[in-house]
Amino acid sequence: MKEYKCKYCNAAFEKPLLLARHVRSTHKRAKTREKKAIAIGKESEQINRTIEAIGILKGLQALSNLSQGEKKLLQEVSQRIEELLAYTQRSK
Ligand SMILES: [Zn+2]
Repeated sequence: MKEYKCKYCNAAFEKPLLLARHVRSTHKRAKTREKKAIAIGKESEQINRTIEAIGILKGLQALSNLSQGEKKLLQEVSQRIEELLAYTQRSK
């Protein structure tokens, strides 16, 4: 007889319907938690990359062969990103 196994906990069921019900009632919440954890992980990765980008811009600003206009532009861009980052972190 064919068995339908749960891919999360390996429990076996006689009918696909029973398996589906089991997954919904037992694992749905865990799945949501998992998704949320992944989302949070991605977000903090994005924040780290943004901080890195600000660092790169600041490093560029410090280069001596840039014109005042270029330095000002880099300053403005990094400030905009910093503001966005601050806003992102506040809205949590
Ligand atoms: Zn299961």
